[in-house]
Amino acid sequence: MENKQVQENYARISAEIAEAALKSNRKPEEIAFMAVTKTVAPELINTAISCGIKLLGENRVQEYQAKKDSYIQGIPVDFIGTLQSNKVKYIIGNIRIIQSVNKFSLAQEIERCAGKLNLQQDILLEVNIGGEDSKSGISPENLPELLLQIAELEHVHVKGLMTIPPPSSDTSFLQAMQELFLKTKELQIPDTEMQILSMGMSDDYAQAIKFGSNLVRIGSALFGARNYR
Ligand SMILES: *Cc1c(COP(=O)(O)O)cnc(C)c1O
Repeated sequence: MENKQVQENYARISAEIAEAALKSNRKPEEIAFMAVTKTVAPELINTAISCGIKLLGENRVQEYQAKKDSYIQGIPVDFIGTLQSNKVKYIIGNIRIIQSVNKFSLAQEIERCAGKLNLQQDILLEVNIGGEDSKSGISPENLPELLLQIAELEHVHVKGLMTIPPPSSDTSFLQAMQELFLKTKELQIPDTEMQILSMGMSDDYAQAIKFGSNLVRIGSALFGARNYR
């Protein structure tokens, strides 16, 4: 993939995000456009930042550590991949939001590491909206209780929800997620914000925005197909 292609992709996707936002009566700047960086070379990521990308998403701790010093300074990075508890210590303090918190034991480890550094770590809870065995994430039924447990943790702050819906030709999972997000907001759980709904990837970001997403995570539509070798 060439720099020029990334610039074109960035312009096209930004325009589509703006259009989807306006269609659902929101301002384009209310929707965060995250560049998902797994397998992508740092030079290309910096091209995307030069185009206007203001947020990166990382999946793997090791890859993040290897690449982070090459990025244009000051760009915030969220963690979006499966996170093992024993790796939390390597990313804490450097990551804006850990979006992939999927169980209480992981939140407890984040609490422990954040407490040591005396900082607050923002997180999203990952919801398995499709109920798929193959995917991690909290089931919608268990969400309120988990939020109440996490509210007790002093150094962990919930900012919203994240999901990876099953591939689907209809929008029922996106709609279910929007309903869950709004319902959870109404619960007004102490020390819990329902501000961010992180939903939508290369194939469904415009639809996701229609169903209330305000953070889309885009990889292949921006950088081209991934090469895992
Ligand atoms: C890889 C990945 C994305 C981006 O996927 P694309 O379909 O390439 O846009 C988004 N979210 C998560 C959690 C991912 O792992």
